[in-house]
Amino acid sequence: MPTATSSRRYSIFAIAREALRQHSGWTRAWTSPEPRERYKVVIVGAGGHGLATAYYLGKNFGITDIAVIEKGWLGGGNTGRNTTIIRSNYLQDPSAAIYDKALKLYENLSQDLNYNVMFSPRGLIMLAQTEHEIRGYKRTAIANNLQGVATEWIGPQRLKQLVPIINLDGPRYPVLGGLYQPRGGTARHDAVAWGYARACSDMGMHIIQNCEVTGIETEAGQVRAVNTSKGRIGCEKLALVVAGHSSQLAEMAGFRLPIESVALQALVSEPIKPCMDVVVMANTVHGYLSQSDKGEMVIGGGTDGFNNFTQRGSWHHVEETVRALVETFPMISRLKMLRQWGGIVDMTGDRSPILSATPVGNIFVNCGWGTGGFKAIPGSGWAMAELVANGAPGALAADFGLNRFREGRFIDESVAAGVAH
Ligand SMILES: Cc1cc2nc3c(=O)[nH]c(=O)nc-3n(C[C@H](O)[C@H](O)[C@H](O)COP(=O)(O)OP(=O)(O)OC[C@H]3O[C@@H](n4cnc5c(N)ncnc54)[C@H](O)[C@@H]3O)c2cc1C
Repeated sequence: MPTATSSRRYSIFAIAREALRQHSGWTRAWTSPEPRERYKVVIVGAGGHGLATAYYLGKNFGITDIAVIEKGWLGGGNTGRNTTIIRSNYLQDPSAAIYDKALKLYENLSQDLNYNVMFSPRGLIMLAQTEHEIRGYKRTAIANNLQGVATEWIGPQRLKQLVPIINLDGPRYPVLGGLYQPRGGTARHDAVAWGYARACSDMGMHIIQNCEVTGIETEAGQVRAVNTSKGRIGCEKLALVVAGHSSQLAEMAGFRLPIESVALQALVSEPIKPCMDVVVMANTVHGYLSQSDKGEMVIGGGTDGFNNFTQRGSWHHVEETVRALVETFPMISRLKMLRQWGGIVDMTGDRSPILSATPVGNIFVNCGWGTGGFKAIPGSGWAMAELVANGAPGALAADFGLNRFREGRFIDESVAAGVAH
């Protein structure tokens, strides 16, 4: 069993070399150290956003005295549970800026991390199935083009060419057109977490798994340490990046967040032959799907109708989601479903994230990505690193501060993100 980690580059030559020696030379991708007494920066949550924050702190600011603390296994939260959709077709300018920054970073992430995140810009379509949606998406297409984010409104015929399995003429919700983002697509969610983790570990950062933060120590309004299941860990700065558990961590530090936690569910079918090479979202009926490299149809549903911390799926969601989609995708009726699951997402009232300083000195939060934060991971990490390093937000995070809730400056993405992921 390999024990040491190594920053040896992955390449075709490495694969060939290892193939010749029965793959005995691979080393672990990241270390599993015991925590030190103190770090300059502690990040709670080894999901994509926490790991990306650590990575860009190291890469862009040279800060590597960092521990990323995770109560489970890295990527085991929403990062490893999502349906991997990536897009940047949001309505408001601050949203388009941060999501498109993320998309641009995704486009070169495999090269940057030297880790194949299987980014697949196969194109993404959001279906319009009501007159109201036609108006909404045409408006978004115009806004996107002003923002420099290429999207287009397409009619039913073009849609049918892109998605041959679609039924345009459903009796309840015929397909009237769609908002198409050719650069949108998917990536392998675990690989995103693993790639960032490997790069962070190579920079000397500590990723400490199976270590739950149980308390936050403050003194004179400043953070001093976190108490964990592996003991007290001192820090100069603390970043809380725990998605659905953000309100719990904030409570430990003595402040409140405008976050509601709720389970979001998804399911996959048995693998079938390639039949759809774009991502399609049907927001009126509430369901979306793409086909994985293994051939499974990856199907996303909705959030539970009540707040909860239950990381699992439920039968009625399978039924509701499949029932919603079957009119538009009749082939679904003949598929067996293989698995279902859930993750705890962190919803804000305006369906936009929070990247912010907090009432406690040197504690920063990154949360509120709700049902759609996988696509944002690189951009969010980039912006959060700026915030933590400088103590103040850069241009990308400036509008996403906590003060917007007090000042009524909402970034309303309820059309782009309230339902869709
Ligand atoms: C079913 C589903 C489908 C989705 N589909 C999409 C999609 O298609 N596209 C998209 O863009 N987004 C999607 N999302 C949303 C996306 O997954 C999340 O927004 C994103 O992964 C959040 O990442 P994160 O790093 O903030 O959180 P997480 O990945 O949840 O990481 C937070 C980590 O914090 C840890 N933690 C919590 N409390 C503590 C503690 N006390 N001590 C230590 N560690 C702690 C958790 O264990 C967890 O690993 C989906 C989500 C779900 C659940």
